Formats: sequence, C-alpha cells, structure tokens
Amino acid sequence: MATLQDIRERFKKGSIKQQQLEAAIFTEVYRSDPSKVREACRDAAILRCEGIEESTGVSLPLIKQAQIDNSSYANGAILPGIEMKAGGAVIPMGIAGPVKILGEYAQGEYYIPLATNEAALVAGVQRGIKAINLSGGMKALVTFDGMARAPMIEAPDIESARSLCRRFLDDRSLVEELGRHVKDPFVRLEKIEPYQLGTKVILRMVCKTGDAMGMNGVTKAAADIVRELLKKLPGWKLITISSNLCTDKKASHINILHGRGKSVQTEILIPEEVLRKVFKEGVTSRKVEQVVFHKCYLGSALSGTVSGFNVNAANTLAAFFAATGQDLAQIITSAAAFVQADSTEGGLHFMVTMPSLELATVGGGTAFGTAREALRLLQCDGRGKSPDDNENVKRLAEICAVAVSALELNTACAQAAGYEMADSHVALARGERD
Ligand code: NAP
Repeated sequence: MATLQDIRERFKKGSIKQQQLEAAIFTEVYRSDPSKVREACRDAAILRCEGIEESTGVSLPLIKQAQIDNSSYANGAILPGIEMKAGGAVIPMGIAGPVKILGEYAQGEYYIPLATNEAALVAGVQRGIKAINLSGGMKALVTFDGMARAPMIEAPDIESARSLCRRFLDDRSLVEELGRHVKDPFVRLEKIEPYQLGTKVILRMVCKTGDAMGMNGVTKAAADIVRELLKKLPGWKLITISSNLCTDKKASHINILHGRGKSVQTEILIPEEVLRKVFKEGVTSRKVEQVVFHKCYLGSALSGTVSGFNVNAANTLAAFFAATGQDLAQIITSAAAFVQADSTEGGLHFMVTMPSLELATVGGGTAFGTAREALRLLQCDGRGKSPDDNENVKRLAEICAVAVSALELNTACAQAAGYEMADSHVALARGERD
C-alpha cells in the first residue's frame, strides 16, 4: 500500500501523469474502495495545487481550500468531474425574492439564487420583483422544448444532396427509423431539419432530453444516427459531427427562430400606480415604452445585434446560471431575449421572450455542491423518468425567465427615470453619492 507522500514524489518526478493522479491515489492509497472516491479526488487536487505553489512560488490557499466534490464512480473507474482539478473558484451569492410566479410549472413564490460579482444586480432584480408582486405576479410559459445538434455530411454531387434533403422533408418514416438507433433512454429524436450548401448537407437534429440540458445526449445520438445513415449512402462521408447550425455557444439567429433548449415567454401588466410607487417619481408606462423601443430596437438594430433586443438579460442569466450549475458558455445563446413594453390603458404591458434558454436540473454542474442546494431552494431538484417527463427543468426555465424579466423591468424603468441607472450603480458599487 502506497502513502500519499510516495504518490507526491512519483507525481513530482513525472512517473505519475496528470491524468493518472486520481486513479493512482484511489487504487494505491485507498485500495480501490468505492466509498473513498471523493477523498482520492480531493487529495489529487491538493497535490496538484501544492505542486503549482511549489513551482511558481505563489501561495494559493483559497483555491486549494475551495474543494468541490464533483467526482463520481462508474464501471470501476473514477470520473473526477473536470480534468487537472486543483481546487475551486468561489463567487458571492445573493438571494432575491420571493417572487410570485403564475407559470404552468412554477406556481407560487420562489427565492432566486444569483451568483455574481456585480453590485446593483441583486438589488435591481429585487426591485423588479417588488413591482411584479405588487402587480399580482408574473405569468410564464414554455413554448418549445428541444435540444439540437447539427452534423454536416458530404454527398458525391449536388443532386444526391438535394434528394436526401427532400427525403427528410417528405418522409417522416426515415426520421422514425433513424430515431430507433438512439440508445439513451432520456433522448428521443423529434425531427431532422435538412439544409443544403452545394454537396454539403447539414442535418439539424432536434431531440427531447428529459430534465437534462442534453448536449452530451444529443451529440451521442447524432453520432449514432449519422453512422446508421451513412451505411445507407455509399459515397457520402462525415465532415463534422457538429456544424455550427446547432447552434451551440455562439449567438445565432437559427436558435431564435427554431428554438433551442426551452423557449419561454413571460407577461405582466404593471399598473401606473405601481410604477410610481416602486420606481422614481415620473416613471410612466409611456416613458418605459419609449426607452424600450429606442434602446432595445432602434439602438440594437443600429449596433447589428442578432439576439440582444433587451436591456441587460445576460446579467441575471449569468448569475442564475452560475448559482444553479448550468453550462456557463451557454450564456451567450441563452441570453437571447426580446423585451416588449406597451403602454396601455391599464398600465405597462411588459413581456419578455427567451427563445433559446439552455438549462438543466440533471447532469453537468447541476449534480453537486452549491448548485444542488440552489436547485432545492428553487423546488427544481426532482428528476423525471422519461424524455417527456421534465417538469423540473421546465419549472426552472419559467423561474429563470421571470428572474431575467424582473431585472429587465427594473433597468428599463431606471432608464425611464433619466440618470438613475448611472447614479445607483455608482452608489452601490463605489459608495459614491451625490
Ligand atoms: P449529462 O451530464 O451527460 O447527463 C445526462 C444523463 O443523466 C442522462 O444520460 C441519464 O443517464 C441521466 N438522467 C437521469 N435522470 C434523468 C432525467 N430525468 N432526464 C435526463 N437525464 C437523466 O447531461 P447532458 O445534458 O446530456 O449534457 C450536459 C453536459 O454536456 C454539460 O456538462 C455540458 O457542459 C456538456 N456539453 C457537452 C457538449 C458536447 O458536445 N458533448 C457540448 C456542450 C456542453 P442515465 O440514463 O445513465 O441515468
């Protein structure tokens, strides 16, 4: 039986590689005891961090102490969660709410965990929530549910490419047949959208993925489907399992038009008196309408944005994603948002549309640590039993969209009050007051 000191020496000499460290500690120090996976991964992270401290002379006590257990054990092997783990990064968390939600899946009052370094963000969400609650609560609705992956294959000539695209458009049985090759019980192929560029054919495959965000599941499904399809298409070949038409982690218009993850709508009518009471004197529905039109549509059109027809949706979204363990690179796609603010007789008719909100209550970073606690707080930590049984993630999508809407409302109203946004940010971030 080896000691941790033996392993440290061998790791330093290079006879244990980075990627072997967890397994070496697990087998040699803990004798492959499955109940000790967590300890083996923690020891490996500390050894790594100490090695970096030694070789750089930089002391890293906080990174080293912030040990987050995202390890697991499957088929006799350790899965450390991420590679070359040396510790953790910690972000402050504020909890806004409770906010009253009148959703299909989110019904009642919810606290909103927000992990952020930005002063004024949580306060802004909270003021938006005050207006929402005084107006009776915000409606939320999921209008699309599906994760997409889009492999690109190459035909021998443009006629063959067109003929395959036509088959996908005309022959539903082909999709059904290919769907039978998807093995994951939580992934079901819904449709394949074909696109032709010369001899290249992009097949945008859309799947239901249960409570998972679905990228691993859909990527695996896409590979299984393409392998099967190419068996029937001699002379064709795979160019890439993921062309950028999916579209993952890039701002894109196709996600807005076709949806990706969850498409969510929110809606509320804020009476004039609530606007007056919650926001600065002089804020009216007409003023908010003008700010939203000129900023979110005129200004955004001139800037050439493809998805930023909103006030600051990425702000709340990033904090909500960090708090609930979502894939942070998907903030770019998920933050696509369209805000509408219509001045009506009853007050401000305020709506937010989020066409491609990619989130999960199962898998990836949602499975452990503070994210799991946050999902429990949100009453979204259960898991369904099939690709369609996914009320938890749809509830989470509704809550997330309402949280985003709260800050959209607040910041639109702050800008309708002249210089208030600049003043309040400076006061909360720097302590400067006029
Ligand atoms: P995942 O982390 O691979 O976990 C999903 C698995 O959870 C399912 O296969 C299923 O496995 C299990 N599960 C149990 N209950 C479930 C339920 N109610 N609904 C759905 N699944 C359930 O999750 P993923 O969403 O497919 O992938 C997310 C990860 O992919 C994230 O870490 C993300 O960062 C990463 N990602 C991957 C790519 C890529 O190209 N591969 C791209 C972007 C992001 P069992 O049937 O075995 O229980």
